[in-house]
Amino acid sequence: MSTEAAAPDLAPPMPTTRPTAAESALLARHGASLAAWTLLRASDVVDLHIDTFIPPRLWGYDVFERHGPGLLRGHFFGHLDVPRMEEGGLTGAMWSITTNPFRTAASRWRVFQKNLTRLRALVDGSNGRLAFARNAAEYRAVRAGGAHAVLLSIQGGNALAAAPHGPADVPDRLLTRVTLVHLTSSVYGETNSPFARLHPVRGLTEQGRALVAALDAERVFVDLAHIGRDAFWQAVDAHDPALPLIATHTGVDGVRPHWRNLDDRQIRAIADSGGVVGIIFAAQFLSRRGGPRDVGMVVEHLLHVLRVGGEACPALGTDYDGAISPPADLRCGTSYVRLVQALLDRGVSERVVEGILGRNFLESFARLRP
Ligand SMILES: [Zn+2]
Repeated sequence: MSTEAAAPDLAPPMPTTRPTAAESALLARHGASLAAWTLLRASDVVDLHIDTFIPPRLWGYDVFERHGPGLLRGHFFGHLDVPRMEEGGLTGAMWSITTNPFRTAASRWRVFQKNLTRLRALVDGSNGRLAFARNAAEYRAVRAGGAHAVLLSIQGGNALAAAPHGPADVPDRLLTRVTLVHLTSSVYGETNSPFARLHPVRGLTEQGRALVAALDAERVFVDLAHIGRDAFWQAVDAHDPALPLIATHTGVDGVRPHWRNLDDRQIRAIADSGGVVGIIFAAQFLSRRGGPRDVGMVVEHLLHVLRVGGEACPALGTDYDGAISPPADLRCGTSYVRLVQALLDRGVSERVVEGILGRNFLESFARLRP
């Protein structure tokens, strides 16, 4: 068979053109070179955790309008909107629907369905700028059409606790990832946050094991961000070893020991499964005494994942719009090019940078959901 007939593994890179005046302004603002821009534009850039659906839900933020840093000056919210995703080169992202743990199980499931309806309406009303991607082939099709790929995800698996068939009840196989627990422990298991003390549950529960099996059956990523250490290993044990695990938004203990971060054994377990570790842009979990105060802190965590987990492991999961405080030079969601520049400045090869930006995740996604 001729090689031309074989489907490429990944979407063809975007055609590279000379930067427009607006693009040149963006490069100047982020101190980025044309080389960084060209690399970014030729790459798939997939952010594994954005909470950009929270502001429209809570206070009617219009995601189709371009916003400035806002009243909070880039702290907590206001990082991203569709125009800035397009300007910044973000080709796809896991859009999170976050669960409110203080509701009853029935109410969480009802509210999740309502929020999903709203997110679908937002995508449907985007004039082709956003489109859902349920698997790697759909991601490529969405990109070929020039849209930003929306990968549906849930933060807080307890959104599904009252769904009669669990993740299988999310319509149209739209769901691509579930973070087993969030900031509080739940019927599924223990969080890694200090709020774990509020709840008697320890480790991963029987229901947690069943949720892992149900996610595997649906080929939905089991996300180990936020999970307690014992529960982490019990989830690894319950998980089908043939499928990749993921930690979508985290820092690493190897740079900054913190309850929110992963240790080296955890990184290796995810890498060994064929999964990726997305580095968060939250200074509160990344910064170390005497360390960089800018984009360099994200670079340190990415390079640690690279060293411990190998080239196919590091990825991005900024948590933009998720109440985080990014380093001052990453507070606008067009900052991906600044990170590319910082990685190139550290001598990271273009191939490795491209892997971090999106290829590593997409290869893992293609194994889970071709
Ligand atoms: Zn989170």
